[in-house]
Amino acid sequence: MVAQIIDGIKIAERIKTEVKDELLYIKNRFNLIPKVVSIIVGENPATEIYVNNQCKICNEIGINVEVVKINKNTTQQELENKIIQFNEDESINAIMLNLPLPPHLNQRKLQNMILPIKDIESVTAENLGKLFYAETPLVVAPCTALAVIECLKETKIELKGKHTVIVGHSEIVGKPILLMLLSSLLNSPTPTVCHIATKNLIEYTKLAEILIVAVGKPNLITEDMVKDNAVVIDVGINRIKLLDKNGREIIDEKTGKPKTKIVGDVDFENVSKKASYITPVPGGIGPITTCILAKNLLNLTKIQLNLPIEGYKIFS
Ligand code: NAP
Repeated sequence: MVAQIIDGIKIAERIKTEVKDELLYIKNRFNLIPKVVSIIVGENPATEIYVNNQCKICNEIGINVEVVKINKNTTQQELENKIIQFNEDESINAIMLNLPLPPHLNQRKLQNMILPIKDIESVTAENLGKLFYAETPLVVAPCTALAVIECLKETKIELKGKHTVIVGHSEIVGKPILLMLLSSLLNSPTPTVCHIATKNLIEYTKLAEILIVAVGKPNLITEDMVKDNAVVIDVGINRIKLLDKNGREIIDEKTGKPKTKIVGDVDFENVSKKASYITPVPGGIGPITTCILAKNLLNLTKIQLNLPIEGYKIFS
């Protein structure tokens, strides 16, 4: 069996078009281009790349992003005051607090200071509580977890009762995926969550009809760990060095640095021979995540404008 590839770029384009059309309507009717403030505290090249990429996609869709860089020595009080200022500013529709924060700052307190109606990443207890209670309409939810759900929907396979193994239980990915999978009383799959303390991971992954991996370790999931015909969703993003056939690093002549590439957590080449569906990395979850961020903003903006919203339908 050769797995069908779940094309994240195609799904992302579909979401992008939907969001763009609705934002155009808002622009014409209210003369409004929604604005996000993206806060970066301290210097972090990975965060800057991530934010630059978001800015590019948001601009394409019709969203203004203002990047606010704050010195790494800022105090908790100064940052809290900034968030209060952005909450009160009616020209700002959403606030993003990029992680990681320097260790002297209280991340959870700062996240919870963002007004839920401006919480584009769904990090506040109020918005996560709505996910916990499967409240409808669901206005915002964690983007990567929603991207996983979009990929599962794309396969059109029935999820009801299916044994689903999630590897990784982080607050931004694994846990919200679990809540989403359990959000329908009638149609939920049956999830198992594995993590660093799981003994003998293979015993669980081999039973998975649906396998979702969100760890950050290249090649964690090899072919022998996957059940025949499983649906495999790879959330991991890892940059690895390219090696020649003797196992030596390949050096880029222009930069003098080792050449690298991005891979997921799954051995794509071999697992794709066994799975029924698989997401590639890159080109899978990543592009969908950014478009869902834009959709979260659209939903928040509609609420702020008293427009009706449909909200996310996870599983009916
Ligand atoms: P994280 O906070 O580091 O969480 C990783 C999770 O994996 C933790 O729950 C950890 O368990 C678990 N884990 C670590 N080693 C394991 C092992 N050997 N076996 C089983 N579980 C193990 O990372 P994250 O933020 O969730 O991100 C996970 C990956 O997804 C990363 O590669 C990240 O770059 C990627 N990501 C992609 C997107 C996207 O848009 N595509 C978005 C977000 C993240 P413990 O907590 O018990 O240690």
